[in-house]
Amino acid sequence: MAADVDVLIVGGGPVGASLACALGQSPLRVALVEPVPPEAEQQPSYDDRPTALAPSSQRVLQALGLWPQLRAEATPIRSVHVSERGGFGFVRLEAAIAGREALGYVVTNRTLGRVLPVQAAAQPNVTVLCPASAEGVTPADEALQVHLQVAGEPRVLRTRLLVAADGAHSPMRAALGIEANVNDYRQVAVVANLTPERDHGGRAFERFTPTGPMAMLPLSGGRCAMIWAVPRDRVENVLALSDQEFLARVQQNFGYRLGRMLQVGRRDTFPLAMITARQFTAHRAVVIGNAAHFLHPVAGQGFNLSLRDVAALAELLHQAGCADSDPGSAQLLQRYVLARQADYRRVSGFTDFLVRIFSNRVPGLVSARNLGLLALDLFPPGKREFLRYAMGRGGPSPRLVLGLPLTGVGQ
Ligand SMILES: Cc1cc2nc3c(=O)[nH]c(=O)nc-3n(C[C@H](O)[C@H](O)[C@H](O)COP(=O)(O)OP(=O)(O)OC[C@H]3O[C@@H](n4cnc5c(N)ncnc54)[C@H](O)[C@@H]3O)c2cc1C
Repeated sequence: MAADVDVLIVGGGPVGASLACALGQSPLRVALVEPVPPEAEQQPSYDDRPTALAPSSQRVLQALGLWPQLRAEATPIRSVHVSERGGFGFVRLEAAIAGREALGYVVTNRTLGRVLPVQAAAQPNVTVLCPASAEGVTPADEALQVHLQVAGEPRVLRTRLLVAADGAHSPMRAALGIEANVNDYRQVAVVANLTPERDHGGRAFERFTPTGPMAMLPLSGGRCAMIWAVPRDRVENVLALSDQEFLARVQQNFGYRLGRMLQVGRRDTFPLAMITARQFTAHRAVVIGNAAHFLHPVAGQGFNLSLRDVAALAELLHQAGCADSDPGSAQLLQRYVLARQADYRRVSGFTDFLVRIFSNRVPGLVSARNLGLLALDLFPPGKREFLRYAMGRGGPSPRLVLGLPLTGVGQ
């Protein structure tokens, strides 16, 4: 029996929607399944949290034709200041050192939600099923049968490749029999928008505090987006503070580099862990995005890493579509894993290292990491290497990461 679609993407969050946009440039028949419309209040992905987009992501989004719309609502990061509360060391990373106008751009997930799903639905070869959810999967000849609920009605779709992009607690990952390693940091990210007294001037800050890292990202209108990792057993206390008490607590930890903190918006929370699928592929299936690797946001790399996954997978699938070969073949999936494993290991290792090294209060280590920060600041080649990590460079790059469209590949 023929498959209904070539590629079925489960999950229309930023990663699943980006893949659908990228495959819009291919000859494949694609379906995207998402339970919650992007504009709905209960949508779990497209909320007010900020996402810092690395230049690699900017190039992917540019190649997909999405950047002009996103740029209109994005705030450039001109420099990053890294320091530790009570420590003497710091690092300043400036766009000029990297020879760039900006080190990256900050958008809110709500902005991503206004652009990515709309563009995905506009692709002639992409069918969006929403509200719809995937409930299970069974193997079939040269395909997988995916059991869906579409607007409350059961439906089965046969696909040659299933892409699970259904988030950190991925029901599809479980249905495929893929286990995940969970490293619980026992921290919760408290996210809020703040208005400081002084103009941020495009400066972003990463501040390591005794409770956990605090990032302050520049937003439009002089506001900043704060992401503060707080121990889980203290988060209720932090949420119970009045706005004035909360601002005072932030000030105590962040200091006065932006003057006084004047106003705070709604506080949202996100539990933090490192969740890694033990394998990224199964028979005719691949897991991507949060479903494959959920990272601590300390280095702001989760979506950036995932967009490079999307770029690599889309290129292989595009080639398969043009050559009329099987998009779910074991060879294609193996090539995908080989192409992505070094980047994944580098980024997840770096992120986990940052969380661990700055969570440790051993006195000798406190001085050592402050000396490390100072040395990095005084040593430009070290800074450039650090920037290569943060900006998503290194290793062979798929076309989209180079900013090139997929049309023309394999034809
Ligand atoms: C506080 C915070 C700050 C962050 N900051 C940054 C940053 O600055 N830079 C960066 O690169 N990354 C950042 N990240 C990471 C980034 O948010 C994630 O990488 C990104 O959201 C992953 O998207 P996703 O589409 O894989 O998963 P999700 O956003 O979790 O989306 C999964 C989707 O699957 C859907 N779904 C669930 N179950 C089903 C089902 N059964 N059937 C169909 N669909 C289903 C859900 O409705 C959802 O829409 C941050 C994360 C946090 C928590």
